[in-house]
Amino acid sequence: MDDPATTCVFCAIVAGRAPACTVAESALSLCILDTNPLTEGHCLVIPKRHVPWWHDMSAAETADLYCLARQVAQQLAAVYRPDFVCLYARGRRIPHTHLFLVPTFRGDPLDRYFNALEGFQETAQSRAEMAQPEALRRVAAKLRSPRAES
Ligand SMILES: [Zn+2]
Repeated sequence: MDDPATTCVFCAIVAGRAPACTVAESALSLCILDTNPLTEGHCLVIPKRHVPWWHDMSAAETADLYCLARQVAQQLAAVYRPDFVCLYARGRRIPHTHLFLVPTFRGDPLDRYFNALEGFQETAQSRAEMAQPEALRRVAAKLRSPRAES
């Protein structure tokens, strides 16, 4: 298996072995500009430790990462005056957790994308069963006690 310390671009940035435009830093996290921005100000917030998926971070890393994301989102809101700052987490293309922070305006590509996704949620026939109150109660019960349902 490849060692992320030598193959992961975000680990290289954290270690100072690869360039990045740093926006903010905290004890366990780093915020950098995305090199392929969707809009001006598009940032990535990453944990300093190599963790592929956000839900595998420790509680301390999670709190630190989201606190830094909140701080930068407030800066983005003050500088760009967007309708809101969109946040989403990935880790698939670069397998190191990264939160996307994107200043978002009504009708821009990201806003249209999420509107289309929400439209799909609300109208697709295949989702009709999942939207029924009994189905939603069953899923909530499954998530509250996952071992009991499996
Ligand atoms: Zn990494």
